[in-house]
Amino acid sequence: MSDYYKPHRRAEWNYGGPNWKLSRSKIDLFLECPRCFYTDNKLGVARPPGFPFSLNSAVDKLLKKEFDSHRAKGSAHPFMKKYGIDAVPLQHTKIEEWRDSLRAGIAFRHAPTGFLVRGGVDDVWVRPNGELIVVDYKATAKDGEVNLDAEWQDGYKRQMEVYQWLFRQNGFHVSDTGYFVYVNGKTDREAFDARLEFDVSVIPYVGKTDWIEPTLAEIKKCLDSENQPAPAEHCDYCNYRRAVAEVSQNAANGLVSVKKLPHQNIGKNSSTEKPTLF
Ligand code: SF4
Repeated sequence: MSDYYKPHRRAEWNYGGPNWKLSRSKIDLFLECPRCFYTDNKLGVARPPGFPFSLNSAVDKLLKKEFDSHRAKGSAHPFMKKYGIDAVPLQHTKIEEWRDSLRAGIAFRHAPTGFLVRGGVDDVWVRPNGELIVVDYKATAKDGEVNLDAEWQDGYKRQMEVYQWLFRQNGFHVSDTGYFVYVNGKTDREAFDARLEFDVSVIPYVGKTDWIEPTLAEIKKCLDSENQPAPAEHCDYCNYRRAVAEVSQNAANGLVSVKKLPHQNIGKNSSTEKPTLF
């Protein structure tokens, strides 16, 4: 079995167990497909994870170091000056905890549902009046200017909104405007030459958090139900699962024969053989 994927989670990590928490990525999964969310959080079988994006992590780490050096000095990073943002990286005893998305993050117990909602933020800046700014680092490599216009980037926006909401629930005064520090790998160089260069854009985004409370109520209803919700209408994962079930059933019923290529038939008389099921 892969080290990255254990299909059956222990009950204490599922909804109703003492270790269950609602992360911002799970909120996004619910919005994408309540059935997959239910299967993951209530029944304990999550989708296999994607493999780690090491280059993105390296960029995040370097950006973090760069902003941390200004955090220590209490000074504005040149990007902030370039984009006219009157702020400095926040100094706070909990900043490392809030940024630890795997083990900690910023959390809040939401009384109406009883959920412990949490998320790990990339950075927080602060304006002279004490208002916090939520910041997210993103890395990509695409031609042209980066922006937030694609439909698939709605998840980025919701991510920022959940962080803004979490900081407000923790009693902080938080700006509606957050920033994406977006780095874009340049692919128009003559040669790689063991260097990858980036353009950096700081993109403002005005968050709206009014969808979060009703969504938490919907999630509670979903998790408390005994019925698995319907699958999402357009989902490649489900189409794949359905197709696999279909061909496997056909193969088990002897309805499928696989024609072998000539080089696979050496030393054998038959040109058909039952396939291995998976
Ligand atoms: S449609 Fe199926 S596979 Fe896709 S997200 Fe929903 S339950 Fe999961």
